[in-house]
This record gives sequence, structure tokens and C-alpha cells, in this order.
Amino acid sequence: MFRHLLREMEDLSGTTSITIPVAADERGYVDKECPVSECRYQFKVMGEDWGALFHDEAVFCPMCGHEAPATQLWTTEQVEQGRARAMAYLEARVDSALRRGAAEFNRTHRSDGFLQVSMHVSGAPRRAVILPLPAAEVLEQRVACEKCSARYAVIGAAFFCPCCGNNSVERMFEASLQRVRARVENLDTIRSALREASGPDDAELTCRSLLEDGLQHCVTAFQHYAERRYRAIPGTATPRMNAFQRLEEGDALWRAAVGAGYIEWISPDSQSRLRILFERRHLLAHRDGIVDDKYMAKSGDHVYRTGQRIVVTVRDVSELVDIIQRLADAIRAATEPKDGAPTMLPGAEHGRDVL
Ligand SMILES: [Zn+2]
Ligand SMILES: [Zn+2]
Repeated sequence: MFRHLLREMEDLSGTTSITIPVAADERGYVDKECPVSECRYQFKVMGEDWGALFHDEAVFCPMCGHEAPATQLWTTEQVEQGRARAMAYLEARVDSALRRGAAEFNRTHRSDGFLQVSMHVSGAPRRAVILPLPAAEVLEQRVACEKCSARYAVIGAAFFCPCCGNNSVERMFEASLQRVRARVENLDTIRSALREASGPDDAELTCRSLLEDGLQHCVTAFQHYAERRYRAIPGTATPRMNAFQRLEEGDALWRAAVGAGYIEWISPDSQSRLRILFERRHLLAHRDGIVDDKYMAKSGDHVYRTGQRIVVTVRDVSELVDIIQRLADAIRAATEPKDGAPTMLPGAEHGRDVL
């Protein structure tokens, strides 16, 4: 009577793998996760590109750049749900073999009028079908790599193309500015959460240093962006270290390389704000924010006197983000090869989800 079960068990013992399909989201993207335990960054790749462009031996984490074989990028949810579904499938096959055995037993062992024996398998019958694992919700930030054209979707910041590992200068810059914008936009929430948790002193100190760091991050992001864009121009020599943190020096480099500079790219008002905010950042980094004569001579700032400590406001940081964004746009337009226009995907964040 256990003929069916034994046959099923024999069949299953020869099974080395069970394939569980993974569903794409409504836009065609499938979920992936970095295998590094400290990172575990979750992202999505376009299903079509996963088959056509990605290489089995190396996929890159968009956040930390870790390189791993394609088989290691299952998400934690996929692994857990996949395991549960495989077990349910095996149980269903055993269940149906038992039922077939019981039915056969009941058919062949009819009542002899004295003793009636029948066999019954309890519980509702289970169907041995494997449904695809569901996709996580869609991500709004969709990107196409400028180098290999693989399409992927990310949340928050991402620096590397998961297909070719390209560390895009545009992605780096965009992600840095996004981090600064997020700080400024969430400052009130951060302040009230900290007030609750650690009191008003800690809340004020933390928020002030978040704003001061915001200036620093803007300048660093701009320096990095400008330097990489500049060095990509054929025939240019390597600029001095941090040359683009010094506005006159940066302007002269652009003028020599592409025939235009900050005067052409941003308004006189923006130029003077840029100078003041860059100089304030310099004070914070090298003089603990205390105004000195050199600052007064170089910045053209009339708000402070020598000896005071500068105060960074939300407006300062937001303004610097906007100005360097405009400068970066102008630098991109001036340096990008005309046939290599950046890719824009519909519905992308900031209207310019480019590389
Ligand atoms: Zn990672
Ligand atoms: Zn790529």
C-alpha cells in the first residue's frame, strides 16, 4: 500500500534541485541583495538585462562595490520564502503519494462483512505546485549605466553599476548631494527626535554639526566631481591637489581647458555666495570656524568680524547644494562628448536620473 510513497521517495531522492521562479515587479525589475553581511544592500536589476548583459561570475553591489557570483545575490526574503516553498512542495508530493496509496488500499481492501478496514490521510490535500516568489515594491530611482547600459533600480545612494562595476562620477556626485539634501530636509525631525532622546543640548550640537558637515560634503563632492570631469578632458595635466576647492584656480583650469568658467556658468550673486560659503567651509575645516583677517580679505563677507565664529544655517547649505548642482550641470555640458549624451529614464528622481 506504500508503493506510491516509495516510488515518490525514490523519485525525490534523485532530485538535486528544485527550481523556484522569482517574479519581476510591475516594471520588470527583479530583487537582488549584496551578500556582504555588513552591507546587505537591496536593489533591483531589469529582468531582461539580468539574462542578456550580466555575467554569472561577477555582479557588483551598487552600494559597496563588492564583487560576487550571480548565484550569491538572492535577497534574504527570497532565500527564506524559497526554502519554505521547497519544503511545502516536497510535503505536498509526499501527501499526494500517501493519498494515492490510501485510495488504492481502500479500493482493494473491501469489507469482508466482519471487519472493515479503511485508510484515511488527514488534513486538506495539498497541491504540489511552486508559485513564483513575489517581488518587493517598485523603486523610483531607476538608472541605466553609461558604460554597459544595464538598467537597475536603487533606494537612497548607489555608487557602482551592478553589471560592470563602473563607479560613475555622476552617480557619486548625485548621491553625495542627495545625502546633504536629506540632512537639511530632515533637520527638524532629527532635532525633535534627539530632544526627546538626549535633551536640548545634544540636539542643538548634533544639528549644528550636521549643517557644518553639510558644507564640507558639498565642497568635497564638488572637488571630486570637477577633478574627474577635468581629468577626462584629453590633453589636460593632473591638477594640483584640491585645486577645485580654490575657486580662482579651478576657474583658470576650466578657462584654459574649455574656454569658459564660473563667470559664464553662474550669476554674479551666485559667484559671491559660492566664494563666501567655500571660505566658511575652509574656516570650519582649518580654523575651527573662527573668522580671521585672511577670511575677511578673501571672502568679501560683511556679516562677520575677525574673532567671531561663523554660524551655518539651513539656507547656507541649501544654497550651496543648488549652486554646485548648477555648476556641475554646466561642467557636464562643457566637457561631455557631444555623442555621449546622458541617459534619462522616465519618472526618474529629480527629473535627471543620469549617470
Ligand atoms: Zn554591498
Ligand atoms: Zn555598467
